[in-house]
Amino acid sequence: NITFDVEKIRKDFPILKRKVNGYPLAYFDNAATSQTPIPVMDAIVDYYSNYNANIHRGVHALSQEATDKYEGARIKIQKHFNAEKAHEIIFTSGTTHGINLVANGFGKFLKKGDEIIVSALEHHSNIVPWQMLCERTGAVLKVIPMDLNGELVYSEFEKLVNEKTKVVFCNHVSNALGTVNPIEKIIKKAHSVGAAVLIDGAQAAPHIKADVQALDADFYVVSAHKMCGPTGVGILYGKEQWLQKLPPYQGGGEMIATVNFEKTTYAGLPHKFEAGTPNICGGIAFGAALDYMNQIGFDQIAEFEHELLLYATKKLKEIEGMKIYGEAAEKTAVISFNIEGLHPYDIGTLLDKMGIAVRTGHHCAQPVMDFFKIPGTVRASFAFYNTFEEIDRLVEGVKKAKMMLQ
Ligand code: PMP
Repeated sequence: NITFDVEKIRKDFPILKRKVNGYPLAYFDNAATSQTPIPVMDAIVDYYSNYNANIHRGVHALSQEATDKYEGARIKIQKHFNAEKAHEIIFTSGTTHGINLVANGFGKFLKKGDEIIVSALEHHSNIVPWQMLCERTGAVLKVIPMDLNGELVYSEFEKLVNEKTKVVFCNHVSNALGTVNPIEKIIKKAHSVGAAVLIDGAQAAPHIKADVQALDADFYVVSAHKMCGPTGVGILYGKEQWLQKLPPYQGGGEMIATVNFEKTTYAGLPHKFEAGTPNICGGIAFGAALDYMNQIGFDQIAEFEHELLLYATKKLKEIEGMKIYGEAAEKTAVISFNIEGLHPYDIGTLLDKMGIAVRTGHHCAQPVMDFFKIPGTVRASFAFYNTFEEIDRLVEGVKKAKMMLQ
């Protein structure tokens, strides 16, 4: 891809110049968190240097400026995900918060014996809140199985859906394997019985520009820190009619219309779900991160990352004993692997000594590891600022680690 100037892009990420254990950093833990470009850092410095103030209630200039920038970020996010209305975007502290907000409120709609469906590929944050909800309500959790390619078995999902199904939750992209799930089909099928669908977009959002209206998703959740933004902020998209029906998650300031000791009435959307002082700077920086990524272009990002994925897959497969988990027909740039007879943790530790950052373990997706009957994998996850040379170092590093450990 000659149009993609990765060297120019890398200049926006100061951290990529640093050394780790005496080697230039090769950062392949992007699925855990992405690195931060200068324009996002500038937005953070600008906020604290020039207009740090609490939002919404202040009559003074700084408060109004901060409010305008924060609400401006909400609109940027609305446009990015093509939500119909800005108040369908709820600021959260991240994906986990968004899922808990919905799962908690959904208790209102469930009774004993109702069914909720989860996919076998979920992150723990999209399993545990629903299990807690089942305990509270007596609803039953059903699981869409996966196959050896790391793909969900759609025909089994079709069999699970019935009039007792009230909510389906599935990630758009699996963090453990990179599989892109057929969420359009899943949403359509779930809607045919009136069930709501929550899509965990945490791993998709850095690579795929989701259109929540075209998908017809009821809820879509993401974290800013996986898409060049800061930690501690994310959004929940919810269709207006669902957000109006869901009860508030937390009580406090900002989320009320009137309060007295007899009765409190709640504010309208989005404030009903935004109790307390939010991560103002984080929300603004999230907007800056979206501007940055959109300027590069999601199609260009996806195309370049796909080339990185194909190159790395081919090279890694040349290593004897290499087992890659999850070779879905459609996947993002994630490679989860093991080498026969070696523990992933040992490989990861040796790679770190060579300045190469990967993740090892179960990746908060123990059911996926159980499916493959393994304790964990080494996971290399790529971003648009990675290079083919870095992948060569990864491949050489794995070979070296293998030699040292065998
Ligand atoms: N879902 C998926 C698919 C993820 O990859 C992650 C982050 N690893 C989460 C949810 C949780 O995101 P956060 O920790 O930012 O709340």
